[in-house]
Amino acid sequence: MSEYQICKRCVMDTIGDPNITFDKEGYCNYCTDGLIRLNSMNFPTDMSKVETLFQKIKDDCKDDPYDCLVGVSGGLDSSYIIYLGHKFGLRMLGIHIDDGLDTELAKKNIQQLCEKAHLELVNVQPDPEQYRDLTLSFFKAGVPNLAIPQDNLILAALTDTVKKYHLRYLLHGSNASMEGILQSGNTYTAADDVHIRAIQKQFSGKPIDKLRLLTTFENSILRHFRRDVIRVTPLNLMDYRFDVAVKELHDFCGYEYYGAKHHESVLTRFMQCWYLPEKFEADKRKSHLSSLIISGQMTREEALDKLAQPKYPSEEMKEADFNTLAAFLGIPRKEFDLLIAQPAHSHDEYPKSFVSNKLVPALLNIRTKLHRKNRS
Ligand SMILES: [Zn+2]
Repeated sequence: MSEYQICKRCVMDTIGDPNITFDKEGYCNYCTDGLIRLNSMNFPTDMSKVETLFQKIKDDCKDDPYDCLVGVSGGLDSSYIIYLGHKFGLRMLGIHIDDGLDTELAKKNIQQLCEKAHLELVNVQPDPEQYRDLTLSFFKAGVPNLAIPQDNLILAALTDTVKKYHLRYLLHGSNASMEGILQSGNTYTAADDVHIRAIQKQFSGKPIDKLRLLTTFENSILRHFRRDVIRVTPLNLMDYRFDVAVKELHDFCGYEYYGAKHHESVLTRFMQCWYLPEKFEADKRKSHLSSLIISGQMTREEALDKLAQPKYPSEEMKEADFNTLAAFLGIPRKEFDLLIAQPAHSHDEYPKSFVSNKLVPALLNIRTKLHRKNRS
């Protein structure tokens, strides 16, 4: 077993991560690559790039009923995008997956934000019984990414809404400022319906025909190579800062931050605080805090202090989440405790689609090489 090592610049370390490497100064591959990406983006200090983008969207869509689609999760990044869009007068259509696992705070944040931003909201409710059964199958499979069914339903709903309303733009909250570092491994794409169906077949066998799942073909071929909708990431066109976003959102609609990333859903909070660290030695806080370090929003010492705190904000919250999830899955709490104590498994142990696992990465690789060749 190799010796424990932690990066001297960020807080990524060797625990549960076979992909981390270090240079001779003791800096890891994550922050070294992350800094190169950040430096190449050259964020302006004003909002000129965002304004130009939003104006282009308005001009392109002036004869359409909406300027763009935006996913609504209650999370900080997507909430801030909605706030910005509202400020600049974009006519946005919001889409929210109401799967029964939003935290009370997320419900409140979403309601207040939509009200203040006058956001028209499409609320998608998956068939409760089939969604419950599918999520239970993922728990039984013991794979790291339990949120694959939830994420696939979101992708499918976004795809269908784009088509239904002939939307041309999708505003997305992803950003290099707070997500510049993401630990690799311990996950798999949500867009592989072959993987989802195989796990459901093995652990339940019950139909999931009432759930609109995005197929591998739709995601891989249509999304990467046809480009029906233009996905834009305005937060990468500005100096996006965590403290500023929280304060502006709070002043705008009383938004309250959850304390940590992905804490807006009971399922993802359980994954971040207990399931991934306990079962897979993957403490995702390290990625989030390291991202803040390299974007100059936190010192390494502050990040180490935060890491020394318990992952679950409180024991009461942990108990409540475990009880909520057991009730959601329709099993007694004791059975839930036994289920999550089962051995961990990798996504590789279950069938995957050849298209999304092999073919599309190979085609994307060829496309990237061709782009590079054309540019040189
Ligand atoms: Zn590092």
